[in-house]
Amino acid sequence: MDKSSTIYVAGHRGLVGSAILRELERRGYENLLYRSSKELDLRERDQVQDFFENHHIDYVFLAAAKVGGIVANNDFPADFIRDNLLIQTNVIDSAYRANVKKLMFLGSTCIYPKFAPQPLKEEYLLTGELEPTNQPYAVAKIAGISMCQSYNRQYGTKFISVMPTNMYGPNDNFDLKTSHVLPALIRKFHEAKVTHAEQVEVWGTGQPRREFLHSDDLAEACLFLMDHYEDSEIVNVGVGDDISIRELAELIKSIVGYPGEIRFNTSLPDGTPRKLVDVSKINSLGWKAAISLEDGVRSAYMAFQNDYLVNK
Ligand code: GDP
Repeated sequence: MDKSSTIYVAGHRGLVGSAILRELERRGYENLLYRSSKELDLRERDQVQDFFENHHIDYVFLAAAKVGGIVANNDFPADFIRDNLLIQTNVIDSAYRANVKKLMFLGSTCIYPKFAPQPLKEEYLLTGELEPTNQPYAVAKIAGISMCQSYNRQYGTKFISVMPTNMYGPNDNFDLKTSHVLPALIRKFHEAKVTHAEQVEVWGTGQPRREFLHSDDLAEACLFLMDHYEDSEIVNVGVGDDISIRELAELIKSIVGYPGEIRFNTSLPDGTPRKLVDVSKINSLGWKAAISLEDGVRSAYMAFQNDYLVNK
């Protein structure tokens, strides 16, 4: 990408898309395109084709998707598979028709088999059963990967697919019913601090281990891969290190400055014992995550106070 390339960020209001847009702006890219879903409904083929025909787009970051936690995925499985298939099919096909130079499709680690060994290597894709609760979402993402690979093979496009691990950062979802653990705990400890509550409830035993990648690190990885990765095979982005939920809760408690106690509610589910991606491929290409979890949580907590609480 050079500074005058026309770059379209699909999904620029989400956790990933907003981080990519910030990083592009920070580096001085001049021709950035983005549209809200009101202005451009990516589920509508005609709208998407017109958009690509009317703008000479060189690069596409496809970070638009319908996403949600376990409850949302379980309650609205049809919406998850339909919206994601429509969005990615329309964008990928229109990008091909409009001769886009390169497209990056953002996936998720839920594409990997439920019982795959840890850390998750790229080659485990399509080697086993998926986790049932988010299977429609995962199947849509796998279709997107296969579509990029197939277009590359048949039409000679340069469409790459990137699989980020669990992420956090500005524009995260802080709704306690649908959010992931890290933003949920930021909110819970903050609210307990301001209301002087005696305890904060953390779900499960605290023993599961998770990996957390700051969205600014992911954005940097995406720009790096757009410039340096050409292969059809998927590539993981993560930190390569995990932490227990108990350790995470202790860390957030100390950063927020909450003096009370943590109570583990073991009647709530732990979920998968461990979820960690293998990052040897991206590391060998020359990229490594740089934001420590402590610094990342500090800045996510600041963003929570500045944006979320102000806009509430
Ligand atoms: P997962 O990585 O798909 O399991 O998604 P989550 O981020 O929702 O959960 C990760 C782990 O954190 C699970 O073991 C949860 O039980 C645990 N956890 C502890 N407290 C919370 C909470 O307040 N919200 C969420 N979402 N998870 C929590």
